[in-house]
Amino acid sequence: MSFVDFQGVTKSFGKTLAVEELNLSIEQGEFFSLLGPSGCGKSTTLRMLAGFIAPSTGRIHVHGRDITDLPPEARDIGIVFQNYAIFPHMTVFDNIAFGLVERGMDRTAIKRKVDAALEQVGLGGYGERYERELSGGQKQRVALARVLVIEPEILLLDEPLSALDKKMREEMKFWIKNIQKSVGITTIYVTHDQSEALTMSDRIAVMNAGRVLQIGSPVEIYEQPNSRFIAEFIGESNLLAGRMGEGRIEIGRSAVPIGEAGGASPGDEVALLLRPEQIRLEPLSQDEAPKLSGRVADEVYQGSIRRYLVEVEGQRITVEVPNRPDLAQLPKGAEVSLYWHPESSVVLR
Ligand code: ATP
Repeated sequence: MSFVDFQGVTKSFGKTLAVEELNLSIEQGEFFSLLGPSGCGKSTTLRMLAGFIAPSTGRIHVHGRDITDLPPEARDIGIVFQNYAIFPHMTVFDNIAFGLVERGMDRTAIKRKVDAALEQVGLGGYGERYERELSGGQKQRVALARVLVIEPEILLLDEPLSALDKKMREEMKFWIKNIQKSVGITTIYVTHDQSEALTMSDRIAVMNAGRVLQIGSPVEIYEQPNSRFIAEFIGESNLLAGRMGEGRIEIGRSAVPIGEAGGASPGDEVALLLRPEQIRLEPLSQDEAPKLSGRVADEVYQGSIRRYLVEVEGQRITVEVPNRPDLAQLPKGAEVSLYWHPESSVVLR
């Protein structure tokens, strides 16, 4: 049995099936994300692990112990929520000390631990401040320090960055990942933001409508999505409609060679997933046979990249080209060849 184990867990609220037949195995020390759109059941999953709500059916084990019927305080789990939930009438020091005081730890030990926690989260010297004197990012650091100081077995993070502005979110993504690795605590992270999940996680479970659709490393989820839903939810994607042939896909009048068939049989209606950054765009060439050819319908300058909208066999796809002087700029209306590495395309049914 793995460190955290959900076995056949279902949760319904009246007629709403929030989580359905969930099986999850999370390893000790892992940074595991639950990723999915609003309402997919990720917070419900987290709340069941924390003990705030009980599963309708199924069991949850942590470290080999069945915790399904334990109250939250009997589980060795710390949580950080989206809204900082730090006490406004207490100093930062007292906020972080709170759980230790409750546990009856002596004052010298508390001081030592809180000072170490403040250093750990980069807030050395901030102990005497109040919530109103902190930025959003600093508040989340306090919230995290308050949990880590208790040294729980598991850390749960429920959309902890969603109240922060974009720049702070970017900074905190790396910071949280680093601190998690240095502490080594098993962490379950809930988010609807694919870039947070891709940046921080060892593995991701993508959920939709109460079900887990795929579990894998960020690379697996991004490069080998197992469904159109995941391909479109994670990153940008072009899904070219076609019909499966023998070792190739017929897209309009073109036959495109493929690697893996993704379980599709000849005659199946399929989609060929091509990520915008995986396609090489060249002026139409007679020398090297393109995978597909098309015409530039639009071109947008976006600083670090140029984004082309290309018409291919009556469909439109997006291609991202790094903005470099050695790469040809292609005007609207230009006839172009499209190339990509066979491994970077995925056949989806
Ligand atoms: P969000 O990102 O919006 O929080 P989520 O993926 O975390 O979404 P959940 O909060 O787990 O989704 O909700 C899953 C489903 O269960 C939703 O349809 C929601 O309306 C429903 N639900 C959640 N909590 C309750 C509740 N206490 N009573 C009734 N329905 C609920």
